[in-house]
Amino acid sequence: LKIQNEIMESGETVNFDDIAGLKDAKQTVLEVVVWPMQRPDVFTGLRRAPNGLLLFGPPGTGKTLIGKAIANETKATFFSISSSSLTSKWIGEGEKLVKTLFAVAAYREPAVVFIDEIDSLLTQRKSTENEASRRIKTEFLVQLDGAGTSKQGRVLVIGATNRPQELDEAARRRFTKRMYIPLPVEGDRRVLIQVMLKNNNHKLTEAQIEILAKETEGFSGADLKALCTDAAMGPIRQLGAKAMEVDVKDIPPISFKHFKRSLKGTR
Ligand code: ATP
Repeated sequence: LKIQNEIMESGETVNFDDIAGLKDAKQTVLEVVVWPMQRPDVFTGLRRAPNGLLLFGPPGTGKTLIGKAIANETKATFFSISSSSLTSKWIGEGEKLVKTLFAVAAYREPAVVFIDEIDSLLTQRKSTENEASRRIKTEFLVQLDGAGTSKQGRVLVIGATNRPQELDEAARRRFTKRMYIPLPVEGDRRVLIQVMLKNNNHKLTEAQIEILAKETEGFSGADLKALCTDAAMGPIRQLGAKAMEVDVKDIPPISFKHFKRSLKGTR
């Protein structure tokens, strides 16, 4: 039961269309992962699906979303686990969890196993490395090799990391397909803000959204979401305590001014 709590089977569905920008990444994912998983009979030999996909790049750029979209598109069960929840285990426990994770995934084939912060699990051997994490790492690599040799080979392991340089050679070799997931460019930021504002009462014009996209250079998708969430609180802050009493229709729309305040952090 404890193990079940650690390995989340996420019910939320994400489509590729829900992911803004990242056009190249999405196309590559279709070719090397989605189609091969859908048609393992066609994608044999050199075209065979890799059993490890490494997504790297700054935090909050949509790596988890891509993992969920792959699972949805291939009708695979999505499992997600954070490395830190594995490495915090007592000797033997983390290994057991890794074994169980792969056993359950194989049973539920096709499956996508998403591992966040994989660098902390598969880091280069340091002299300070303790016995427990060394054993988890070994077990993980064994299981990863096994996933590739299973008959249908339809367990895909996706590792996400902000620090790919910290992965050791043995780990990197197994993730034969590696993809950089960059920060959104201006056009992508515009689409992201539009998508996030959808179904919200706002009065921003296209031109104002354009300005926000320009002024948010360096923001990740997650940063933009935080910005939009904060701006959405603007009308409530404006009303103060009264907000708790007014009718929903009397709550003012989210405006450019609210965004500017959130951006400045002045509110
Ligand atoms: P981390 O490395 O910090 O785990 P991540 O790269 O896995 O981050 P996600 O968890 O996929 O990032 O994204 C965080 C949130 O940011 C998402 O839930 C989504 O709301 C938003 N987001 C990020 N990138 C995109 C995108 N390209 N399209 C739509 N939403 C995005």
